[in-house]
Formats: sequence, structure tokens, C-alpha cells
Amino acid sequence: MSAVYVWIETFDGAALPTSWEALGAGALLAEKSGGQLTALVFGENAEAIAQEAAQYGATAAIVCDDATLKGFRLEPYAALLTKLVQENKPRAVLAVATTRGRELLAASAADTDSGMLSDVSSLEIQADGSVQASRPAYAGKVLSDVSVDAAGTQFMSLRGRAFRPNEAKSGAQAAVTKAAPALSEDQIATKIERFEAEVGTVNLTDAAIIVSAGRGIANNPKDAPGDAGDAAVWKAKDGFESVIQPLADVLGAAVGASRAAVDAGYIPYAHQVGQTGKTVSPDLYIACAISGAIQHQAGMRTSKVIVAINKDKDAPIFKMARYGLVGDLYQIVPALTAELKKRLGK
Ligand SMILES: Cc1cc2nc3c(=O)[nH]c(=O)nc-3n(C[C@H](O)[C@H](O)[C@H](O)COP(=O)(O)OP(=O)(O)OC[C@H]3O[C@@H](n4cnc5c(N)ncnc54)[C@H](O)[C@@H]3O)c2cc1C
Repeated sequence: MSAVYVWIETFDGAALPTSWEALGAGALLAEKSGGQLTALVFGENAEAIAQEAAQYGATAAIVCDDATLKGFRLEPYAALLTKLVQENKPRAVLAVATTRGRELLAASAADTDSGMLSDVSSLEIQADGSVQASRPAYAGKVLSDVSVDAAGTQFMSLRGRAFRPNEAKSGAQAAVTKAAPALSEDQIATKIERFEAEVGTVNLTDAAIIVSAGRGIANNPKDAPGDAGDAAVWKAKDGFESVIQPLADVLGAAVGASRAAVDAGYIPYAHQVGQTGKTVSPDLYIACAISGAIQHQAGMRTSKVIVAINKDKDAPIFKMARYGLVGDLYQIVPALTAELKKRLGK
């Protein structure tokens, strides 16, 4: 019975909590295949992280706490993953589709001549043990259902927030095996000099709720002050600050934006959702004055509930929204914020 491997992404000796979602998805596969749900933890603090993974459902773990694996570098991580796959022939290798997760799985899938499905948003295991996966294609315009042959190791990167982590069970233990690194330092071309924290980053990918605004945010009825420079930019920035942010604050949400809003300088690029921005799957996505262009949809169509606020009743965003409000965001959003404040006692 072959194992299901889940790569636990770490940074600075701690696991990224999104990895527990990958364990949740892995549990579905392991249950059917009867194999061990095995956490792969490489780098600093690996054993402690493996025991944390046990609380989220891992029944086994393979750890390698070697100095060469202290920070993520593709060569040593992929070489070790490839070695483990070649030696143990797991049923599947899963990781969350972060930049590193995508890179690592793609490299190792190529090295082991295995199948690779990226950005999987749902999984179903058929009675014969084969996997039916859903993944976006053509920049999210369609969701394609892909059947995966049961033979061989299947690599799958998983869309963030598309799978639920298992409930944490304190005291759960995993059988830990230690692995040796596959490369020595002199075989690794990449050297890490330092990490620099980015200023003004927005954690859109992990947000459960996102309030986004588009180009129409510049239609602020307030007058820009005489010394404001570009009046549209001032109005849009004021709209984000005084209308969108308060709604986000009440809901504990992150603020997103369309590319049109970013390109016009209304808000920094870190907030952009879409094909050339972030891909998000929150429980609730509120799109204010966003028309719903295909490239915007590419980044948010897997949101669980979409609410659209737009003054054009024919805007394409309404076709994908569960709830639509036709009207001016400058009237609707403050009213919504006030009502939510009341109801949530804030
Ligand atoms: C290669 C490529 C990549 C792209 N990548 C992305 C991407 O990653 N993300 C992205 O978003 N776009 C992307 N785009 C751009 C995309 O095609 C659209 O141009 C963009 O999404 C439009 O943004 P918008 O909806 O804010 O603006 P618009 O399409 O101009 O829509 C503005 C909307 O606001 C409404 N409105 C105006 N005033 C108000 C008001 N007061 N109250 C309520 N509603 C109001 C209008 O009715 C309209 O529907 C990309 C394009 C290309 C070609």
C-alpha cells in the first residue's frame, strides 16, 4: 500500500499553516489507498514540525534537518524529494500551490517522469482508486476535470484555501523516519545571502474574506482638495481609505483590487487580484465597481460566495455573483458597513 506524501512548507523553522490544508486533501487520498499519510519536512526544526503535522493527520513523517536545507533552495529540496519518490514510489505527492510548492513539485515530477497537476481546486477518489481532479484552465475561464490514472506517482499542487485542514488532534503522533540529504553543499549552485521583508505586503491568498474595488472607485462624490494633484487618484485613494477599508475592518477582511485600479495608481500592486495578480479563494469575495473581466475572474472565480456591487446591471461580474447589488458603491458600501457594525456589535 503506497503512501501519500505531503510536503510541509516551512519558513524560518516554522510550518506554513496552509500546509495543513494539503494534509487535509492528502487524508482523502490516503483513506482510499490505505497508505500512510506522510509529511515530508525538510530543514530547520523538522522533527518538531513533523509532530505538529501529526496533529493535522499525518500518520508518518520523513524528516531531514540538514544545514543544506535550512532555507528553501530548489536544487537540494528537489533532489531529496526525487530520491524519496524513486526509492519509495508513493501513490501521490501533494503540496500547496505556493511559488515554492509549484516549483518543487514540477521539478521533481519532471525528474521522476511522473504526472503533474497544478493548482487543483477539488479532488474526488473514484471507486477504482483513480483520482478525478478539477483545475482551472485558460486563465480560469473554464474548470477542467482531469482523470488521473491510478498507476505511478501523481504530483498535485493544490490551490490555497480550496481544501480544509483536518481538526487538530493534540497528542497525535507520527512515526518519524530520518532521511539523508541528496546533495552536499558543494553540489548546490544557489546560495542564500539574506532574506528581506517586503514592506506593505498584503496577505490576500490566506484571507477568508476579501473586499475588492476596481476602476469605479474613482467616482467618489467628494471633491478633491485643490492641492491634491490628480483628482481621480485622490478620489480613488480616499475611496479605498474611507469606504472600502472600513468595510474590510468590520469583516476582518483583506483589501483587493482590479488591475485597472492598480494601473491607475489607486492602490499598490500587492493588492491586485487576477491573472497577473494574486489567485484567491476566500469564503467571501465582495467586488465593488469591478466589471468582472475574464482576467479578474481568473484570480477569484473559486471564491465560495461572491457579492458584486456595481451600478451597471449588465456588468459581467453579476453572472458569477451569488448576490448582486445594482447601485453606487458610495451609497451601498457605507450603509452595509454601518449595518454590519450594528449586527456584529462593533
Ligand atoms: C494580459 C492581461 C492581464 C490582465 N490581468 C488582470 C488581472 O490580474 N486583474 C484584473 O483585475 N485585470 C486584469 N487585466 C485587465 C482586465 O482585462 C480589465 O481591464 C480590468 O479587470 C478592469 O478592471 P475594472 O473592472 O476595475 O474596470 P472596468 O472594466 O472599467 O469596470 C469598472 C466598473 O465599475 C463600475 N462602476 C463605476 N463607478 C461605480 C460606482 N460608483 N459604484 C458601483 N460601480 C461603479 C462600472 O459599471 C464598471 O462595471 C488584464 C488584462 C490583460 C490583457
